[in-house]
Amino acid sequence: MASVVVTGITGQDGSYLAERLIGDGWDVHAIVRDGKHADEQEITPGVTVHAGDLVDIASIRSVIDVVEPDLIVNLAGISSVAQSWSQPELTARVTGLAVSGLLAGAWDLQERLGRPVRFVQASSSEIFGAAEQRPQTETTPIAPISPYGAAKAYAHHLVGVYRGRGLFASSAILYNHESPRRPETFVTRKITRGVARIVNGDSTSLLLGNLDARRDWGWAPDYVDALVLIAEADAADTFIVATGVDHSVRDFVTAAFAAAGISDWESLVELDPRFARPVDAPIMLGDNSKIRETLGWSPTLSFEETVHAMVTHDLELLA
Ligand code: NAP
Repeated sequence: MASVVVTGITGQDGSYLAERLIGDGWDVHAIVRDGKHADEQEITPGVTVHAGDLVDIASIRSVIDVVEPDLIVNLAGISSVAQSWSQPELTARVTGLAVSGLLAGAWDLQERLGRPVRFVQASSSEIFGAAEQRPQTETTPIAPISPYGAAKAYAHHLVGVYRGRGLFASSAILYNHESPRRPETFVTRKITRGVARIVNGDSTSLLLGNLDARRDWGWAPDYVDALVLIAEADAADTFIVATGVDHSVRDFVTAAFAAAGISDWESLVELDPRFARPVDAPIMLGDNSKIRETLGWSPTLSFEETVHAMVTHDLELLA
């Protein structure tokens, strides 16, 4: 049975990926921060848990050395742009520098065992910053505008460096993807939970920062399928994972209220500049031609279906 080490398994994507890999028959190992998940309630059954923190590179490398995986998937990180502004140094260490430890660990293992060790990095559209080129492709210049984007850019470049050295190291440039497992610290889940609270009578309004930003939003399980295709591809490479369609935050709000049967929502939303990001890309839009054509990936859920699934889930939570 092939073995895989996954970081970030307690996150949105990690939970879907663990379910997918266990279902596919992988021997799944996870690096999880000690103490934070002591009860292991939120970890998919069948996953072997190893204590490790990405700020402690020795702890990660020792898990790689013990498990001797065929594949490493790095999903861990400070994944919020907003948090990266309040904790830039931690972001650099966890989202950026830790990837050097993982790649070096993969490389050394490959050398020691004399067999390939594959590596897949969850990169981000934020490496493109406020790109003028739309849609962005795999060759769009990397020019981040946030500490998160800069840390991801460093990691993304390092994946390319190790690929050049002879490691099967791939980068999935992920655009925003959502699900009922998205934390409420992200605007999408804040909206769907906020709508559910209003419908349930627990709240009278939804506070948001900027309704005009446009993003390319997809369905998280589709993006996890893309990670698996990238891991199992014939050759290591960089792939944009996006829907190719952009929507505004306003569109998201409209779709969320519509999913709850409300068409006239303007009086239920308040704008508060405190919730706007210090610097933000006005539009992010990805061109998914390469992964469609090379690996046969395509998204299965539309924007409206994704929002509907989240609102339905959040209404059920309050029922
Ligand atoms: P998420 O829900 O925020 O999960 C982040 C994971 O990283 C959690 O499991 C967290 O563990 C772990 N982590 C954080 N700091 C750690 C540390 N010091 N040591 C070990 N683990 C640590 O993120 P996601 O939405 O699933 O995204 C997965 C990856 O894709 C991330 O790298 C993200 O940056 C990238 N990405 C996501 C999107 C998106 O739209 N979701 C878009 C582009 C790129 P704890 O539970 O212990 O905190």
